Amino acid sequence: RVVVLRLGHRPERDKRVTTHVGLVARAFGADEMILAGRDDKLVEGLQDVSKRWGGDFRVRSADGWKGEARRWKGSGGRIVHLTMYGTPLSESIDEIRSAGSVMVIVGAEKVPPEIYDIADWNVGVGNQPHSEVAALAIFLDRLFMGQELGRNFQGRIEVFPSPRYKTVIERRDEDEGDG
Ligand code: SAM
Repeated sequence: RVVVLRLGHRPERDKRVTTHVGLVARAFGADEMILAGRDDKLVEGLQDVSKRWGGDFRVRSADGWKGEARRWKGSGGRIVHLTMYGTPLSESIDEIRSAGSVMVIVGAEKVPPEIYDIADWNVGVGNQPHSEVAALAIFLDRLFMGQELGRNFQGRIEVFPSPRYKTVIERRDEDEGDG
């Protein structure tokens, strides 16, 4: 089980980036995103994507990151904090993969120092500053060894891959009538 904990979301500034963290989490194989803080519209938007595009991805808000992180550890889960100051991804990814239940923490602006202590691994996706969206995408892709890209979400909407055209299949909801 893989959960992404998004810290430091500022509703007035981070809407797009946090939405992208959620979209990447879902598309690249995570099971859930927890938003530390409150932005109901954003959470609903991501839930709506899941509903239409399929899969079991869940999104919810939490009042604070501490309770979530502690509960996760208390139930035997491990924590990875993605940070440009961390150790190389290649050094720990095999160990992380074998941990099973992993919470992946990504920040926005500055991350509280306690995060570095509570994390089992502080991992750098390289040591240059870039983005939580990019860091998360590469982390999940290495964790799932590329397999996540072939997953079938069995959504109501599905893209039929095409070299040239946009082909999208949209099924009607079963409870909408004839099906
Ligand atoms: N200076 C900030 C800090 O103290 O970490 C960087 C903030 S950065 C815009 C937002 C988030 O992107 C970070 O909290 C981290 O999760 C992620 N991030 C950025 N560069 C990264 C890297 N090289 N490796 C891993 N994560 C990174």
